Amino acid sequence: MTSLVFLEHHGGALEKGGLGVLSKAASLGEAAGVVLGEGASGVAAAAGAFGATKVYACEAPELAAPLPQPRVDALETLVEKTGADAVLFAASVLSADVASGLAARLDAGLNWDLTDLSLADGELVGKRPALGDTVLVDVGWKGAPKLGLVRSGAFDPVESGGAAEVESFETSFSDFSTLATLVEQTQEESSGPSIEEAEIIVAGGRGLGSPDGFTMLEELAAALGGAVGATRAVVDAGWYPYSTQVGQTGKSVSPRLYIACGISGAIQHKVGMQGSGTIVAINKDPNAPIFDFCDIGVVGDLHQIVPKLTELVRARG
Ligand SMILES: Cc1cc2nc3c(=O)[nH]c(=O)nc-3n(C[C@H](O)[C@H](O)[C@H](O)COP(=O)(O)OP(=O)(O)OC[C@H]3O[C@@H](n4cnc5c(N)ncnc54)[C@H](O)[C@@H]3O)c2cc1C
Repeated sequence: MTSLVFLEHHGGALEKGGLGVLSKAASLGEAAGVVLGEGASGVAAAAGAFGATKVYACEAPELAAPLPQPRVDALETLVEKTGADAVLFAASVLSADVASGLAARLDAGLNWDLTDLSLADGELVGKRPALGDTVLVDVGWKGAPKLGLVRSGAFDPVESGGAAEVESFETSFSDFSTLATLVEQTQEESSGPSIEEAEIIVAGGRGLGSPDGFTMLEELAAALGGAVGATRAVVDAGWYPYSTQVGQTGKSVSPRLYIACGISGAIQHKVGMQGSGTIVAINKDPNAPIFDFCDIGVVGDLHQIVPKLTELVRARG
């Protein structure tokens, strides 16, 4: 199987999500990376270490802004040029737009929210949760190329130590693809790692009692070098930004350590964090569902426990 893997880059580095998908694709066959936009050629070679034999790079000015349609043009060009069997993406707002645009353009099938990929009789098979994440189903494709959008955090990047040949390519742009322009772009200020990248996540739920409760979690996360996550209940209440929501309608994360504070452990939250290495739950209700699937459970008031934990972490330097 040959695949093209769409790799997003930011701040001079390739994003972890795309590299995870690349590593998986390389384990199934020949995988080439695709890096588009300003600075693409500079970061492209780094994909070799994660299994890409080749990386296609294009820095056309039409690709400078993170807009989907010009990227659909570029990928269409590459699909024609390479005849790749599959085009794979790591879930993000941009990748979801590009993947669906490419599916429409090529009249190709797109399976989304994939949590695994494998080969059966040489054919690509995806796995995705269904029915509110209560079952996992195998999904296939009827036509070609096979387009797949992989759930964030599903695959870790695996360094294989290889090197990739970087090939610059040119593409033409449809008139309609360049009609949209980016008027303004702002970056949410954050001092630590994002929840997709963090090795440690301290997450808060309604048990915090008020938005102010998050200050306590931010202090613990800062002491641990981690990021802060949240449940949908508190995000919907406007206590914390939507970008930090973990779960079925938020992000799927798989840090080494997940500390859930005042979170009941609803199935819709669980599906977004059950891939974490060690799950620690702090909850005052001994019957909270989260105690059924955490590794370490602490029954008590988080307002007393969290500040003490932060003190202890700080004391250990
Ligand atoms: C279609 C759909 C999609 C959804 N998607 C998501 C999603 O992506 N992510 C998500 O998180 N939810 C999602 N939900 C919502 C989900 O069902 C739950 O309602 C939500 O996760 C509950 O959030 P919570 O744990 O913060 O609040 P609660 O369920 O209210 O739990 C609060 C917990 O805090 C504990 N507590 C209270 N005070 C303290 C204290 N002082 N110290 C310690 N513990 C305390 C309580 O015992 C309780 O267990 C979705 C729901 C639907 C229907």
